[in-house]
Amino acid sequence: MTRATKIVATLGPASSDPAVLERLLRAGVDVVRLNFSHGKAQDHIDRATLVRAVAAKVGKPVALMADLQGPKIRVGKFADGKVMLEAGAAFILDAQRTEPGDLQGVGLDYKELPRDVRPGDTLLLNDGLIKLTVEAVRGEQVHTRVVLGGELSNNKGINKAGGGLTAPALTAKDMEDIKTAVSFQCEYLAVSFPKNATDMEMARSLANVAGEAFRHRPAMIAKIERSEAIPNLESILKASDGIMVARGDLAVEVGNAAVPALQKRMIKLARELDKVVITATQMMESMILAPVPTRAEVSDVANAVLDGTDAVMLSAETAAGRYPVETVEQMAQIAEEAERAEDVMLDADFKNKRFGRIDQSIAMGALFTAHHLGCKAILALTESGSTALWMSRHRILVPIYGLTSQVQSERRMTLYRNVRPLLMPKLADRDEALAKAESLLVELGVLKPGDTYAITCGEPMGYPGGTNMLKVCQVG
Ligand code: PGA
Ligand code: MN
Repeated sequence: MTRATKIVATLGPASSDPAVLERLLRAGVDVVRLNFSHGKAQDHIDRATLVRAVAAKVGKPVALMADLQGPKIRVGKFADGKVMLEAGAAFILDAQRTEPGDLQGVGLDYKELPRDVRPGDTLLLNDGLIKLTVEAVRGEQVHTRVVLGGELSNNKGINKAGGGLTAPALTAKDMEDIKTAVSFQCEYLAVSFPKNATDMEMARSLANVAGEAFRHRPAMIAKIERSEAIPNLESILKASDGIMVARGDLAVEVGNAAVPALQKRMIKLARELDKVVITATQMMESMILAPVPTRAEVSDVANAVLDGTDAVMLSAETAAGRYPVETVEQMAQIAEEAERAEDVMLDADFKNKRFGRIDQSIAMGALFTAHHLGCKAILALTESGSTALWMSRHRILVPIYGLTSQVQSERRMTLYRNVRPLLMPKLADRDEALAKAESLLVELGVLKPGDTYAITCGEPMGYPGGTNMLKVCQVG
């Protein structure tokens, strides 16, 4: 495998059959996303078990990402399941309404809405397909005028242009779902709609407490999809292990046109702060129904790769689409091609950088050395995976192999760009460990006699955070 960019695929009805899942993993899926907006706890537990089993069969590490629903702010249900809203019509969103909705109005799942809006605000329903202007707030009723009409069906989401809905990031359902997710040791836990670092800290501490019984601490991903999160990007990143550029909800809140520049800024900042970043939503949308992507989708995936994203994500394409395997195959191919056009600017990257930690300095030394010597590979012996993470924050053409004795670290590294995780036995003797690492890479066909490689490790062996040694070797 020469692809550096990773693929996250959402599991759903189109991909929960063991044979399809196996083909998806073979086609290049690195991380499987379980979307807690759909299905019951047991469905997710069953799917997690299936992913672990199929990954073992295929013989590749695969991480699970549990994606919490969050406070999706929704309208209630309609008597006929849906209505057709006409531009210019009046429409009332009523927090107290208990009877099913009709052309005049509908109830609200989100009861706080009347307190969060004022006349002149724009509300966007169903991912921005329907647009309403708030004309008045009367008690529990929000009186609106339809600006952009269309079909509105049961439980569609509501966003407010510019943000400002006060719903907390973690709902009671999310707290239950966190318990389910840590029970199958999800490597990544994605939090929907966080506004600030506190939301992420709270989610992390809930996950860590729930995870104690399973001796598990998931890595935390903040989904950036609220206007309020943008000014807090840096502190949210620092409180998280990574972010998702959640373009679906984000575009509704900040406006479509603002998203591409935000995507570039988020990816850059995440990498500068040693965090991972996933670019998500509608990347191959037309492949839900068609066997080939549009030209625009091809460019979108390629540009996310050139922006430096760790991973590109598929949602409905693999969860409910007609061509889940073909979508992954094509995405993998687009990513691989785009990577060949990348600029390597390691010297410029390092110019104004200072490294205060020994382990991080060794990681950067290995990168610099391997790049300039033209090494065949970098081997990082890493318990926690952090050496491989630091190395992967810079673009170089040399592949990084993260060798660890920890299954959790191995799976977590599946998301890191340009890192190939490998499991190796825990060896206390340094020379034995170095020899084992080399022989593993020779067995894989990555290294051949005469090849040069850089390898890092920490003495004493086998403790996280102890990397203090760099060696450049030639295969004998
Ligand atoms: P969702 O998040 O698919 O859970 O809504 C991603 C996004 O909003 O882009
Ligand atoms: Mn979203």
